[in-house]
Amino acid sequence: MAEFVPVTSPLLPPLEEFVPYLEEIWRSKRLTNGGPFHEQLERELAEYLGVKHLSLFCNGTVALVTALQALRITGEVITTPYSFVATAHSLLWNGLKPVFVDIDPVTNNLDPKRIEEAITPATSAILPVHCYGIPCDVEGIRRIADTYGLKVIYDAAHAFGVRQNDLSVLNHGDLSILSFHATKVFNTFEGGAIICADEKVKQRIDYLKNFGFADETTVMAPGINGKMNEVQAAFGLLQMRHIDNAMARRREVFERYRRAFEGVAGISLLEIPDATEWNFSYCPVLIDAQRFGCDRDALYNRYRDHDILVRRYFFPLISEFPMYRGLPSSVMSGLPNAMRISRQVLCLPVYPDLSVKMQQIIIDLALASHVSP
Ligand SMILES: *Cc1c(COP(=O)(O)O)cnc(C)c1O
Repeated sequence: MAEFVPVTSPLLPPLEEFVPYLEEIWRSKRLTNGGPFHEQLERELAEYLGVKHLSLFCNGTVALVTALQALRITGEVITTPYSFVATAHSLLWNGLKPVFVDIDPVTNNLDPKRIEEAITPATSAILPVHCYGIPCDVEGIRRIADTYGLKVIYDAAHAFGVRQNDLSVLNHGDLSILSFHATKVFNTFEGGAIICADEKVKQRIDYLKNFGFADETTVMAPGINGKMNEVQAAFGLLQMRHIDNAMARRREVFERYRRAFEGVAGISLLEIPDATEWNFSYCPVLIDAQRFGCDRDALYNRYRDHDILVRRYFFPLISEFPMYRGLPSSVMSGLPNAMRISRQVLCLPVYPDLSVKMQQIIIDLALASHVSP
């Protein structure tokens, strides 16, 4: 097959639409440090997403590391093993101890019951992930955080534009983090953001992302260089003009998968909860080898043989990597749902430009691997 199919493909508007932004940057010579496009993107994104304040960052990982600094998190942080590795890495970069707890098998997100069992006197925060953009049990997590006096920082890297009961999921917890990496629904090549409700907290975050400078001569903390530059911000403004259309096309792709696999034994799609406006960011399917008649890795290899680069997000679990596997909470018997799902999951290609014809090939390959008992 001549064409190779990635699991995702970045949203790139027509180049000629980007040129005027570049001309403006060349004219103004404002390249970074809160230039006009940066300020405009912060305002427009906050409004579009339905959040109070938003601070742009150079990427989502630096945003996560900075969020933990901004709230002065210490000791142990309860988090999920079923995520991209940056979630837990942000803890190690702050000298914090990750405590992994198991996920709910329907939402793939932290199970509040397991969170409560893992709290110790050293626990200061919870770092949940809205995995694949499916909202966490935000009420359950809030109750535990309130009862035990814990901070909540949501890794919302997958949750751009997700709403529940007409409210952005990004408004939950103390802070939420977005990623605008090229592989995400909304991208600025690289990029990210911290969302917060408090103006003073945004102010501190803005100091922290600029080396800790509060003014010309005051450095309030050992801040970092986490700034987003004007070229990225300008690209973000252009993306905003195309994002609704891109999500609508992702939706069509997702719905075609859903119709194709409905009623096929041993392959199950994500359940989108009621009253949720989802972003169609990923299409994970779970392959139950016994019922499907073929195991996940066999199907994965079959796709690879056809140059269809499906991905096993998230396999292995974060808790299986060398820098985490020695932790007491990494013991696999304590994470049965995460273990099972990481062995069954396959993310199928979803992106706005995926052709119907190619999608049919992807669907047919799965159906051809299915053996009815
Ligand atoms: C992409 C991602 C990140 C990291 O974001 P970058 O912008 O690539 O640094 C963090 N957490 C999760 C869950 C992600 O998927």
